Parts: sequence; structure tokens; C-alpha cells
Amino acid sequence: MKKTFSIAIDGPAGAGKSTIAKALAKALDAMYLDTGAMYRAFGLAMLRMGVDVNDAAAVAAHVGRMNIAVDYVDGGQRIYIDCEDVTGAIRSPEVSAAASAVSAVPEVRTEMVALQRRIAEGHNVIMDGRDIGTVVLPNATLKVYLTASAEVRADRRCRELEEKGTPQPYEQVLREIRERDWRDSHRDASPLRAAEDAVTVDTSDLSLDESVAALRALAEKTCG
Ligand code: C5P
Repeated sequence: MKKTFSIAIDGPAGAGKSTIAKALAKALDAMYLDTGAMYRAFGLAMLRMGVDVNDAAAVAAHVGRMNIAVDYVDGGQRIYIDCEDVTGAIRSPEVSAAASAVSAVPEVRTEMVALQRRIAEGHNVIMDGRDIGTVVLPNATLKVYLTASAEVRADRRCRELEEKGTPQPYEQVLREIRERDWRDSHRDASPLRAAEDAVTVDTSDLSLDESVAALRALAEKTCG
């Protein structure tokens, strides 16, 4: 592998980005940064403060007023708002929707992108999100656009929620995924799209191990 490398993994909700990126980071001994967790933390803070997440001006007024930080404990990423660990609290469907809404606000994106670049600086890094290959790391060594059909993604999300003990009906999960896809890809600020130089990997018919192997092969070819 080259001395320092960066791998950008973008794609819609539920494509397997975080699970695959985590496994790949372990295999390549690189830092993994889940950028969605930052938008989720910001969204959670807005919900707690009673700010209307669809009011862009109200949301923008809070940029820079709280300290969002990440840390690694036992190899897992933890996320903090003003020193409070909110790693567990950011995973609810309400926070998913709030994250999607606040992430459309340009001032929020500017702050998060700067933070992401600062954290990654000088490290071999694998970052996943929506705009990593297009905005955060335009010179990434490897860019992957990871996708899967909405039905497969909803099915995976349902299984995850069930394992966590918070099951949701499939139809509702599918509807939420489609809504989030639409919002993420139709916003003006850094919409979700594959970078021109990204390799698209469709995981609809791949197991987790097969997906990791596919990305590992790409990484070894590009970063080696
Ligand atoms: O990846 P995750 O589903 O946790 O992200 C939550 C939301 O944060 C996404 O639906 C998207 O709106 C936003 N996001 C983003 N840019 C990123 C990562 C996440 O806009 N780099």
C-alpha cells in the first residue's frame, strides 16, 4: 500500500457502507470515519433544542455553537456533542430524518466537511457518506459508489432494527429509505451522486464478505 491513502465510499442509506467500510478499515489497518454520524449528532441536537429542522435559517444559526467530536474506543467510533456521548442516541428513525434535513443546509455542510478533513489529515482513512468522493476528498486514492436496490436496503435495515430490539414494518422502512434517497439526491448542497471517477459496486446480490472482498481487491489495485 502507498504511504498514505484515502478511500471514499459514497452511496444511499442502507447500501452497507458503514459495515463494509469498517471491515475494510480493519483489513487495511486504516482509520474509519462515519461522516453520517456527524450530521446525525447535529440533527439530534436540533431536535433536543426544539429547532424546526426544516427551517434552514434556524438550523444555520446553530452552526459553530456546539462542539461535535469523534473518538475511537475499542476500535469503534464514538460521537460526542459538547462532551456527551450520543453514539447510541443518534440511531433512531427520527434522528435519521433530522440528519437528512439538516444536511441540506449549506452552513452545516461547510462545518462538517472542515471537521472531516481535519480528523482525516495525515491518516490512512476510509470515509463513508454522500459527498466524500465529490466534495470532502476530491483527490481520494479510490472512490467507490456503493449501492443496492431500495428493496434490498429496506430489508437489511429491517433486520438491523429487529436485532436492536426496535422492529419497524417493512413498508414503513422502505418508504423512509425512498424519502431519504430523494431528499439526499435532490438537495442543492452537495447532492448524493457518484463522483465521475468512482467505481460503482452494487451489493444487491452480494453477501457482506463478498462486498468486502470486492472493495479490498479494488483497494489493493489502486492504493498498492
Ligand atoms: O450515513 P447515514 O445514514 O448515517 O447519514 C445520515 C444522513 O446524513 C443522510 O441521510 C444524509 O442526509 C446525511 N449525510 C450527508 N453527507 C454525508 C453523510 C451523511 O449529507 N457525508
